[in-house]
Amino acid sequence: MNERYDDIIVGSGAGGAAAAYGLARQGRRVLILEKGAALPEDGSTLDVERVIRRGAFKSTERWLDGAGRTFVPEEYFNLGGKTRWYGAALLRFAPEEFEADAAYGALPWPIAYRDLAPYYAEAEALLGVREFPIEPDLRALLNRLDGRWQSAPLPLALAAGIIDDEHEARHFDGFASGRGLKADAVSALLARIASLPNVTLRTASAVTALLPDPTDARGVAGVCVGNEAVSGERVLLAAGALHSPRLLADYLERTGLARALPAARQVGRYFKRHLLTAVLAFGPRRSEDRLRKTVLLSAEAFPHSTVQPLGFGGDVLSTLLPGFLPAPLARLLGAHAYGFFLQTEDGSDTRNQVRVANGGGHPELDYDAARTPAALAEHRRFVAAFRRALFAAGSPNGARTIPLAGTAHACGTLAAGDDPARSVVDADGRVHGLANLHVVDGSVLARSSRVNPSLTIYAWALRVAAGLGARGVCT
Ligand SMILES: Cc1cc2nc3c(=O)[nH]c(=O)nc-3n(C[C@H](O)[C@H](O)[C@H](O)COP(=O)(O)OP(=O)(O)OC[C@H]3O[C@@H](n4cnc5c(N)ncnc54)[C@H](O)[C@@H]3O)c2cc1C
Repeated sequence: MNERYDDIIVGSGAGGAAAAYGLARQGRRVLILEKGAALPEDGSTLDVERVIRRGAFKSTERWLDGAGRTFVPEEYFNLGGKTRWYGAALLRFAPEEFEADAAYGALPWPIAYRDLAPYYAEAEALLGVREFPIEPDLRALLNRLDGRWQSAPLPLALAAGIIDDEHEARHFDGFASGRGLKADAVSALLARIASLPNVTLRTASAVTALLPDPTDARGVAGVCVGNEAVSGERVLLAAGALHSPRLLADYLERTGLARALPAARQVGRYFKRHLLTAVLAFGPRRSEDRLRKTVLLSAEAFPHSTVQPLGFGGDVLSTLLPGFLPAPLARLLGAHAYGFFLQTEDGSDTRNQVRVANGGGHPELDYDAARTPAALAEHRRFVAAFRRALFAAGSPNGARTIPLAGTAHACGTLAAGDDPARSVVDADGRVHGLANLHVVDGSVLARSSRVNPSLTIYAWALRVAAGLGARGVCT
């Protein structure tokens, strides 16, 4: 082994970047290892043809579903991870979403909302979260919805001036900003620490394995980047909820700890992704709204569900229409459409899980929404109710269930909890039974809540970093 770091962070998305920010500012010698490259800055990340139709920036890694069919999850291996592509809706989970909900099949977090609250505030400040006015077409539609649907402003990590840049304003959700008008892991976190002498960032450096301490595998000594060994006092996993559990499972298997540690049986389990449906509502006029994604809708009868408009302009919405439609008709319908994204929290089921590639084959994502029946029932009723409300408001609409490949909100596979027999990491993010391996990405989410996950991932990682600083390595 050559150079030795204090903290090695595997992955540079929401969790990795926030942890790096927190640790670097404590003066720790931080190494960030990112599998992907930095994205080009030539405008191609805003090109509908390249980004949406050709999926040119997406991962091509093939997986198997629970029935053995191959598919390609919507993952992005690039500096900043999925945050470069996200819709920037940065919402806090509600206090009750940190508690167990037995009737719904949801496990508790090992921390309370108040424990995360200061880090939520820090993340919101770092990401410059703000609200935007509701635009006219959406306002008109909301006015026609019946009173059961409550709307609240949607906090967005977008620069105030984005609204004046029509191209960026119509292409922030699912695209990577070319002008830094969307705050993400790179622009809001890594950029603040990149020039510090104690920070090293390596792209195109996929971690292939964790290295055991030669005297006791309950401590990790570092990581492998291909054939290269890199040593560090601590390792923080932030490769994302589909990838971190595979690195950990492999480590536990190789070291024999898979049989010794109760938490090992939980690695990869409780996978969640939200139950997701996209709804396209059509109106008689072309919509001129730019951002669109400015409100969060909820209804009391559906406590685990929310709706937010998609931040898609007509050109993107047209790509969601059935492929058999002639292109000019799809374009016309897209221009007259408003997109909505309906999400329902999924329950915690141990059978929904990520498995490592068996014998060098494809990794496996075994997930069936029917295993969380309360969540599935609420989502179906929620979608039906919202569509009925749109029809009643004069908006004919169509719905599309987002298939398993839609892993934008993947989480939960190294769940945080107090009980090592039912969780993988403790309240401080440390893997139960291991001395110096922590998890700071979406894998830790014990519950997925009814809103998008990134702000909670940023906040968790900031909190873990602060805790590590307070304790030091040897305490
Ligand atoms: C289109 C889209 C829209 C979204 N919209 C929203 C939204 O509006 N609001 C919201 O809150 N969330 C949104 N999300 C979800 C959000 O982006 C993710 O929840 C968040 O980025 C997850 O953070 P993470 O740190 O767990 O993983 P990631 O951000 O995916 O980061 C993981 C990183 O690890 C790297 N990596 C993987 N394996 C290795 C390895 N072996 N070695 C080194 N590096 C590795 C990856 O390349 C990646 O950079 C959206 C996602 C997508 C795709």
